Amino acid sequence: MFIKDIPPKFLEFRPMSDHPTEKTLAELAPSSYECRACGYVYDPSRGDNKTNVAAGVNFEQLPTQWHCPVCGASKALFTDIGSQNAPSGFSENLKYGLGVNTLTPSQKNLLIFGALALGMIFLLSLYGLQ
Ligand code: FE
Repeated sequence: MFIKDIPPKFLEFRPMSDHPTEKTLAELAPSSYECRACGYVYDPSRGDNKTNVAAGVNFEQLPTQWHCPVCGASKALFTDIGSQNAPSGFSENLKYGLGVNTLTPSQKNLLIFGALALGMIFLLSLYGLQ
């Protein structure tokens, strides 16, 4: 089998975003936006108390005169950083992985580094043995 025997359609590069039916949950969830001036992150699942924006309002739905509640930068200075509160995989994979696949990236970090810290505590506790 040589590379010239492979039909060209299998060799062409297609990014995942070209497959409309194959979007990850993180891609389907509403995006968070980060202020490029101060680093404030607008999370649509939390909204914003300071500027009276209710939870569930997407960044795109905010009024054009909306400003960063921290530094006052305009909407145009915000960058799409993707969804922060959705599992990273595809929906059909959620039932696998002993429930770990349903966790968001931050929950997975907590699980991994929490388990490491706990293991370290147990290891160091061995010094307490006589
Ligand atoms: Fe800001």
